[in-house]
Amino acid sequence: MTELRIQNASKRYGSTLALNEVSLVVPSGSRMAIVGPSGSGKTSLLRLIAGFETPDSGLIEMGSNTLCDGGTFVPPHRRDVGYVAQEGALFPHMSVADNVGFGITHTPGRTERIIELLQQVGIPADMMTRRPHQLSGGQQQRVALARAMARSPSIMLLDEPFSALDAGLRDAVRDMVGAVLGAAGITTILVTHDQAEALSFADYVAVMRDGRLVQTGSPQDLYLHPADPQTARFLGDAIILRAVVTDGIAHTLLGPVAVAAKSGPQTIMLRPEQIRIRPADPSPSTRGRVVSRRYEGAAWRTVIEHVPTKTGRDDFVLETASVFVAWVPGSDAFPPGTEVSIDLVGSAHVFGKN
Ligand code: ADP
Ligand code: MG
Repeated sequence: MTELRIQNASKRYGSTLALNEVSLVVPSGSRMAIVGPSGSGKTSLLRLIAGFETPDSGLIEMGSNTLCDGGTFVPPHRRDVGYVAQEGALFPHMSVADNVGFGITHTPGRTERIIELLQQVGIPADMMTRRPHQLSGGQQQRVALARAMARSPSIMLLDEPFSALDAGLRDAVRDMVGAVLGAAGITTILVTHDQAEALSFADYVAVMRDGRLVQTGSPQDLYLHPADPQTARFLGDAIILRAVVTDGIAHTLLGPVAVAAKSGPQTIMLRPEQIRIRPADPSPSTRGRVVSRRYEGAAWRTVIEHVPTKTGRDDFVLETASVFVAWVPGSDAFPPGTEVSIDLVGSAHVFGKN
């Protein structure tokens, strides 16, 4: 069980500041997901931790060891870190067994260890003599994981290892990988640009943008209390509204909703599951019209357009556009064109008061 600490790490490639004063603690035995748009510095950060690159400044520590701090630099093979890259990770000319055993050439009991590792990741021993191209994508990624596990690292770095797999397989392989790493107590960092994967896999999520770490927290914390609108949208559908708050109620274009914020103008966020729709009724209510919907089994992902009414507060602006998303139970029928009345449930998040 090993904690990883990064303090003020920066890395520049020519004119690109790939990492800008990044500080991060990954608690011992925990799983952290790093999310962020392409080019935000996720791979650069993993490469610094693995020792494939040297930071321009900053400190990296693992347990009681300093990996680099300006003077010290521990080379990759002495770091006790496993790394699984996005794809093309296996040596194509080597068998499955030789791939897995690559880092333990002189270890006694090597063959038994290879068989044990393959068993852990669910690859039958009779596939040991195959070459990587004779395996499916999911099997290749599991062999890559077994290879990374061979030297029993304290920390595992996974750089979008599931992104080449199709949806069903991806969930299965991710769950299996999570179980194997969890059972071994390995501190894990998973880079992904799939927000659902980040929220479901990790104990902690860190959001990167333009080389900076903009927010770290539990999945629930980041989903419900994002630091800014960009982060909010990155972690799922978000309805971002201007509001005037009086006595704990935010008055918005879509009606009133509870908030924990002081009175005055604020910017708030709702998640789609906080929007309830019902057939439009004649009483004064916030109105909308269903624009489109997509069936997702348990619910319809329903796109709704706000419809101004004479009684409504039309002086508010819906900053995400005049359309927004609601989740509607699968049994309800609101086809496109339906006029609906809208209620807001739960309490809204207020930006700028984290
Ligand atoms: P991500 O993994 O989030 O997509 P990267 O860490 O790969 O982002 O890249 C961050 C930025 O650093 C990008 O602008 C990328 O072009 C740049 N970069 C990364 N590695 C190198 C390199 N070896 N040489 C030059 N620029 C690089
Ligand atoms: Mg990357």
